[in-house]
Amino acid sequence: MVFQELKGKVAVITGGSMGIGSAIAKRFAEEGMKVVINYHSHPEAAQELVELLKETGGEGIAVQADVSSEADVQKLVDTAVEHFGGIDVWVNNAGMENKHNTHELPLEDWKRVIDVNLTGVFIGAKAALNYFVTNNKKGNIINTSSVHEQIPWPTFAHYAASKGGVKLFTETVAMEYAARDIRVNSIGPGAINTPINAKKFADPKQLEATTSMVPMQRIGDPSEVAAAAAWLASDESSYVTGITLFVDGGMTLYPAFQDGKG
Ligand code: NAD
Repeated sequence: MVFQELKGKVAVITGGSMGIGSAIAKRFAEEGMKVVINYHSHPEAAQELVELLKETGGEGIAVQADVSSEADVQKLVDTAVEHFGGIDVWVNNAGMENKHNTHELPLEDWKRVIDVNLTGVFIGAKAALNYFVTNNKKGNIINTSSVHEQIPWPTFAHYAASKGGVKLFTETVAMEYAARDIRVNSIGPGAINTPINAKKFADPKQLEATTSMVPMQRIGDPSEVAAAAAWLASDESSYVTGITLFVDGGMTLYPAFQDGKG
């Protein structure tokens, strides 16, 4: 346990059954937090995670919900309140991506990625804000954005557009609720070793291509993103709102300029 004040606090984590979301759930449980783990389509992974948290002395509950549905997301609020007595931290982490040339990108794929990555962040943030405002509580919202809120990503135009949207959404809502002591921040992961990248990183050529874009010359571990989430959730970041904390080994630092090129 690093941040003592997190002990007993309640967090909701969307897309929490695997990858970065499950790393955040584990880290929050290590900090003594109670965690509502939202999953979309992997109940067994979510249940395994709940059992794992129990073994390590933590507390969690798994809830199925599609983050693009307001009714589903309300289930997460209700579960947190009924089982754990409230909400302190809300993590909008669920996300998806798929690759298409933009001139061939099916409208359904565009809509689905925007629905999950951007509208899902709005729906989650709205639910959390509503809870904090109605109960006159201070609050903390953390969005998992991406380096692609800043770096263009050809053939992933819908993904980049969704994360660019998350950036200005985060900044706007942070400003709107700052005076109520509700903090809203994003984390911008770079290349992290999670199921979303499993196929890509299993191919040595693609792994090397990605690593070469990281000044620290390695892929990140989900626990390194979770550490940033724990800090943002804690009072150690009490004067921080509206930022994107990049956790990217330097990927946003224009690595093409390495060695004084340019
Ligand atoms: P992942 O595929 O392992 O996890 C994504 C999670 O989101 C899964 O649990 C999935 O079930 C969930 N999800 C997808 N659609 C959903 C929906 N409609 N409702 C509820 N949950 C849904 O990938 P990850 O790498 O852990 O990604 C987590 C977040 O981090 C995403 O927002 C992603 O865009 C972002 N991110 C990841 C990386 C990386 O390199 N891994 C880099 C930058 C940003």
